[in-house]
Amino acid sequence: MSLKLIKKLAYNITNNILKIIYPDKCVVCHKIITKPSDFGICEKCIKNFYIFSEESCKNNFTNDNGFSMFLYNDPIKKIIYKFKYNDCGYYAKVMGIKMGEFLLNRNLFSCDLIIPVPIHWRREQKRGFNQTEIMAKEISKILGIPTYSDFLIRVKNTKPQFGLNKEGRIKNVEGAFKIIKPKKFLGKDVLIIDDIYTTGATINECLKIIKNCGARNLYYFTLASTKKL
Ligand SMILES: [Zn+2]
Repeated sequence: MSLKLIKKLAYNITNNILKIIYPDKCVVCHKIITKPSDFGICEKCIKNFYIFSEESCKNNFTNDNGFSMFLYNDPIKKIIYKFKYNDCGYYAKVMGIKMGEFLLNRNLFSCDLIIPVPIHWRREQKRGFNQTEIMAKEISKILGIPTYSDFLIRVKNTKPQFGLNKEGRIKNVEGAFKIIKPKKFLGKDVLIIDDIYTTGATINECLKIIKNCGARNLYYFTLASTKKL
């Protein structure tokens, strides 16, 4: 590795860390943040975030074995758009830290391993990272549970789920994933992490194939959900 490349890498790492610790502009409204904010979002914008209550999470968890942190409304839409299309992986990191703390405070279940919903390698190459993997790794650090991003891969570069109806979404992700290390799931409690929950088609496809490997209990947790819990 050349010295120039090392310097560039060091700069990027330092810069990203600084952005997390001292986010200078609000990610939603782009105004300068004067008071410290752990989300990197100003006080005015944070009021527009709909965070699911502990009770609604518990209810949804009982019915569906999973829950989400935010309602997928305008401010969270902007953040997800940022890390998906603007090469801003550090927002995924900030959100991952919040998700980890959210789970830690609720303590609804225990699991042996965490699996991020994979994106196709072509998409990951284009974006430079998988935002779900970044979030899962932050959750791992907080909960002390390992994340494995190579146990489950995406073999089909599916078209975006946006704009498809429920049946179309199910069909779109059918056979999209492949288990690489099936024995690792045997008898284990597994938590799947994704960014947006809409109809559950993607999550259910992942849960189905992991269940077929003999996993014991399966749970999911997403950054945002389009349905009110
Ligand atoms: Zn703002």
